[in-house]
Amino acid sequence: MSFKKIVWKVRNFTYKDRDFLLRITPYDGFRLGEILPDGRVALEMCFSDTDEGLRQFLDENWEEVLKVFDLYKDKKNYTIHGRNYYIWGKKYKVNLIFSNLKKYIEIKNDELIFYVKPKTSKQEQENILFEHFRVLLKREIESLVAECEAVAGVHAKEWRTKKMRTVWGTCCIRAKRIWLNLHLISYNKECLRYVMLHELTHLLEKNHTKVFDAYMDKFMPDWREVKKLLNIVQK
Ligand SMILES: [Zn+2]
Repeated sequence: MSFKKIVWKVRNFTYKDRDFLLRITPYDGFRLGEILPDGRVALEMCFSDTDEGLRQFLDENWEEVLKVFDLYKDKKNYTIHGRNYYIWGKKYKVNLIFSNLKKYIEIKNDELIFYVKPKTSKQEQENILFEHFRVLLKREIESLVAECEAVAGVHAKEWRTKKMRTVWGTCCIRAKRIWLNLHLISYNKECLRYVMLHELTHLLEKNHTKVFDAYMDKFMPDWREVKKLLNIVQK
């Protein structure tokens, strides 16, 4: 059942030892909503309805109500609430908040506060998150590109990002186009700088030869140490 747009008031409601989040609306009737990340179930009723009427509605639909509560047991299977993600080497825990009003991501202390519409699937939640990561990564690439190109003395026509499984970056030499792995967002910024320099170096030397390594030694003397960090899987 879908919720209506306008909510006038929100309050807690408890019945038969179960906690609900009650939304008061200008629309007729009672509605049973979704399970929230904190384990409460959302309910909706019209401002002219009474708590007594609401209890009656719950009684009549109690089986259905319990089914929604049951979803909480496998909450982790349908939201990314509580999951950890790394941004620039720092760990953040997702605090997922269902909201019809806004869709945005806020980073506060060690929390990734993520407002998302109630019907968003787990896969969509992760997609939205990674689109946000892409913005952060692109911003960082832009701030590093001039320095990296000056160091390597070569220029790439285009820098692009995508999720990749086996490589941190690739360089299309003919098109002078460099792809960087979206997962670089998880590692500290030195790792990004290293991969950018590595891919730029391919514009000077196609293969991973001694000549290639000599360039890297010149461009980033500690590249071997930084490279090791990229071999550590962030959990
Ligand atoms: Zn390479």
